[in-house]
Amino acid sequence: MAQSTNREEQLEGFESYWSRRADTSYVKFATSYNTATVDIENKSLFLSVNGGDGFFEPGEPLLGKTLACSVGDGLAEFADAPFEQAVQAALAEIAAASLSNGSQAYTETVLRAVSNVAALSHYTRAFPPCFTEVCMQAAKDYFDYLLLLQEEYKKLIAACFAETPYDNEIREFTAASRFYFYCMMENTGLFHSLTYHYTCRRVTKCIGEKKGAFTTDVTESLPADRYKKYLETVEDTQNTGRTQPNNFEKAFDLPVTFTELNIALPALLEQEYELARLDEVLVLEFEQMLRLNLRMKRCKNCGHYFVLKGNYPTDYCDKIPQGENKPCQMIAATDKYSQKLNDCPPLAIYNREYKRLHGKMKAGRISHDQFNIWKELAKVMRDRCTQGKINLEEFQSWLNGYRF
Ligand SMILES: [Zn+2]
Repeated sequence: MAQSTNREEQLEGFESYWSRRADTSYVKFATSYNTATVDIENKSLFLSVNGGDGFFEPGEPLLGKTLACSVGDGLAEFADAPFEQAVQAALAEIAAASLSNGSQAYTETVLRAVSNVAALSHYTRAFPPCFTEVCMQAAKDYFDYLLLLQEEYKKLIAACFAETPYDNEIREFTAASRFYFYCMMENTGLFHSLTYHYTCRRVTKCIGEKKGAFTTDVTESLPADRYKKYLETVEDTQNTGRTQPNNFEKAFDLPVTFTELNIALPALLEQEYELARLDEVLVLEFEQMLRLNLRMKRCKNCGHYFVLKGNYPTDYCDKIPQGENKPCQMIAATDKYSQKLNDCPPLAIYNREYKRLHGKMKAGRISHDQFNIWKELAKVMRDRCTQGKINLEEFQSWLNGYRF
């Protein structure tokens, strides 16, 4: 039990640290509560970022925005964020400025250093720290809290969702079973209480512009397919001549077709959690991941965790890595193809000639039929070459000697 007590003590320490600071209103760091909406149906997590007067915002502005991510993406980003290096740099920056402790310049240095660390993930940006006193110790406390959480969730992802050396044996374990086993081995648990509400709404969320794992500026609108169904229903009703309210609509003084609207667009149950701190949003997402029995892998291109969707086996994520313009899956497919060309010279030679002649055909210098006949013959020669029946030179000279 030693370990579990230790963790609880540690988090409790941070909790009092957070609540103590959240109650006060230091002008630059006052923060208010954030509310998240989880839409189980879409397996997405929506986070509305709210802030008080002096909400401290690391990175690009999130304040007033709604963030959406597929369940698992937020935790994966947090677990992979390079906090450790950033913390070292931030501590060095604060230490260098510590002579002028208490001055305006010192305060600004600490804030900037903390901000540089907190800017590294969406969740740390949405839940920045609250300080009563801006000093080295406060920054250190925050960094300790951050690194402790990151370490914990790295372990939890590896234990519950990622591939293991024992996949042959435990492939059929659910994520919850793996978590149970982890708690047993570590003699620990993950208990947290969150404030929870539920409500019924007809309007569901529609995803806005997707930027990487996260979507910002989520707009609320009717889902297109359901709305279409509603319009069709209304049209049907009008076609069949229902222009008068039915008894239900009459009794409650409702517009005609209110009945059809509710059948075509049923209200949905929505769950909402009150979140004030970083560790709370992590607990929430982790719980959703267990509930959905997610599987994760490390992408063989960018090295980051990603959630496996469906039963389709893939080694690459569908996110666009930094400095690239296409997602890892496409990069891998292109690489694999050029690798195949490298591994198979006859294929490379055939492809080069194919492209050249295809261009000729497009330009009208050879006919479609001429090209197709060549293609069929060239494929036979290519395959004979791959099988070692003719060598590369023979294949090349056949190509060179071909006359239309
Ligand atoms: Zn990737």
